[in-house]
Amino acid sequence: MSRNKKQGGDTESQTLTVNIKLHPTKEQQSILERMMRTYIGTTNQLVSDMVQARENLKLTSKNVSSDLPSAVKNQAIQDAKSMFKKAKKKGFQVVPVLKKPYCTWNNQNYSFDFESISFPVMIDGKVKKTAIRAEMVDPDNRNATLLANKLGTLRIIKKSNKWIAQIAVTIPTTEKGGTNVLGVDLGLKVPAVASTDRGKARFFGNGRENKYMKRKFRAKRKELGQQKKLDAIKKLNNKEQRWMKDKDHKVSREIVDFAKENKISVIRLERLANIRQTARTSRKHNKNLHTWSFYRLALFITYKAKLEGIKVESVNPAYTSQTCPSCGAKNKAKDRTYSCPCGFKKHRDLVGAMNIRYAPVVDGNSRPA
Ligand SMILES: [Zn+2]
Repeated sequence: MSRNKKQGGDTESQTLTVNIKLHPTKEQQSILERMMRTYIGTTNQLVSDMVQARENLKLTSKNVSSDLPSAVKNQAIQDAKSMFKKAKKKGFQVVPVLKKPYCTWNNQNYSFDFESISFPVMIDGKVKKTAIRAEMVDPDNRNATLLANKLGTLRIIKKSNKWIAQIAVTIPTTEKGGTNVLGVDLGLKVPAVASTDRGKARFFGNGRENKYMKRKFRAKRKELGQQKKLDAIKKLNNKEQRWMKDKDHKVSREIVDFAKENKISVIRLERLANIRQTARTSRKHNKNLHTWSFYRLALFITYKAKLEGIKVESVNPAYTSQTCPSCGAKNKAKDRTYSCPCGFKKHRDLVGAMNIRYAPVVDGNSRPA
């Protein structure tokens, strides 16, 4: 991991590199291998041209005739320029040459969503966007927290036969001040419930619609299974995954917007490890209930909140759905309403979010990177 401290004005930031394992298909592997060789070949040629001219040539992607997307050509030019600078410093006694293939994309050119990385590649001389499966980042891993920051360039390398994406990350060392807390409870019936310190609450997503859609997917899958249409099943599963991911993006965006509107500085969520457990357990025991990856939704919320300077803390959710937010007594909700002998009465799904605001913060995902 490389480190780099920068200071400008009153905000400080540092740049790190996060490695993510990639799983390209056979076809993607050969595309990447070709691009990586072209990339270092192009860069080496540019360096040699500049060294010969003894000057930093003013180049644009139009001057470079390689079979690479123009944004990638620009990255090769950048790399060549910094290599030329180094060679010049040493009086051109040693001209650096790249030997290990790699390829770089700038941050405008790729997107990353914890499960895949998408970026433009060259296929038959044409620029096409492709998505490569990435190994899901473990939430207990520091990388997950780091990736919630501003992302820089993406570099793809191959190391002992493994494909690795190296993403540059810039971490601000300043966060939003203030103490306004938003509790967020994730669930199946209501995908997310948020509650502020000032008693403002909002429900996000549509659990009923999700359940209906999941049933439709399952019925269709069963039908295709009986007809032994395996390719069609695979396509259907991908479609379902994309649909769920879209829903998670939408809900997480709405939650972070709600937090911004309410000047929230800290979002408290159930601990990710717990969320994973919950999802697994419900899959086993509630065959009729649809399943959902709360884990991904939690990652998306964390990621989007951090970009807005909002801290995300994990809490231990024990009893958060039973404890009365007003007096602390434990009650079980009946039907849709939670009511306590002390007089507190609210929608049952709201109680969890209210209690999560004050639940004990656990270590691990609780601190900023
Ligand atoms: Zn009470």
